[in-house]
Amino acid sequence: MKIQSPNHQITKSPNSSPTGIVLHSGGLDSTIACKVLQAQGIHIIALYFITPFFGYKVEGQKKILSNRAMVDQGIESKGIDISEVYLKMIKNPEHGYGKHMNPCIDCRILMIRNAINRLDEFNASFVATGEVLGQRPMSQRRDALRIIERESGADGQLLRPLSALHLPPTDVENKGVVDRSRLLGLTGRGRKDQIILAEKYGIKDYPAPAGGCVLADPILSLRFKCMFRLRPELDVNDCVLLRMGRHFVLPDGSWLVIGRDKRENAKLVSMMMEGDIKLDLTAGYGPTGLWRKTCSDVYADLAAGILCRYARIRRRLEEVRLSGPGTENVKTITTFQASDEIVNKYKV
Ligand code: SF4
Repeated sequence: MKIQSPNHQITKSPNSSPTGIVLHSGGLDSTIACKVLQAQGIHIIALYFITPFFGYKVEGQKKILSNRAMVDQGIESKGIDISEVYLKMIKNPEHGYGKHMNPCIDCRILMIRNAINRLDEFNASFVATGEVLGQRPMSQRRDALRIIERESGADGQLLRPLSALHLPPTDVENKGVVDRSRLLGLTGRGRKDQIILAEKYGIKDYPAPAGGCVLADPILSLRFKCMFRLRPELDVNDCVLLRMGRHFVLPDGSWLVIGRDKRENAKLVSMMMEGDIKLDLTAGYGPTGLWRKTCSDVYADLAAGILCRYARIRRRLEEVRLSGPGTENVKTITTFQASDEIVNKYKV
């Protein structure tokens, strides 16, 4: 059954409930948005977006879509990889950055535009988000919500179920497909109402607000800023790499990443690309290093010395093996561990 709307056909799922797409970040607010709409009998498809900065667990270049939480909630979910377009946007966001390196307004516009363009694909009538009026200083002010709606091409089709009662009615509310009286009127930064709603809907194990976005992390965003300044051509693999390990930029501009534990060491190995050099100790347990964008091994001693600084058992002299991915080309050098002064000088 189809009901016509001025902007988009209002469609119903095969079991004759209307369908809506909810942008799902994995957080509490977007899960509540799904639940509030489901409670009206609306079929929900939760879209989550994958970028180098959020949306998938870092495991080399293999993307592991994490939708277990959604399955637990009985919500159909789908991951969409927007890594390339996101990377382009983050280098120069039209609406600027928030407190850290979070381009929240452009980020929302990008994701909502993508979802709007998929309405037909999912046979859906509208897009909804878990945004709460006044909750975030950059992207959830009233004027910012309006800018996001307009610039994503979602005029009249973007529902914010948690704050709907403080916002103009959308097309689907006007048509009665979504019952406005059963939507919410939350505002502000407080979480009390959301926690009560989480209990009501049986939502457990939700993350802290904005806890999933590394772009809003004060320490990681400093690293991102510094590396984007040094290397504006950073690609998706580089950005994923930035999220793990200890980072150093050597005098020739080459980039050394050292794993902090066994898991990170394995991930670094899985992320190696042509031209990268792997460093590890020939004896005993120790960290793995990934040395990237180096044109020569002039600074091999320095890279090896920094790696030795993080060996579990520190010896005066260490033997470090340098090898490339998929090659037999192995070189071994003997070196001293770098001093704290050297480590701090090149650390990013
Ligand atoms: S906090 Fe991160 S994911 Fe959320 S809108 Fe901002 S940049 Fe996007």
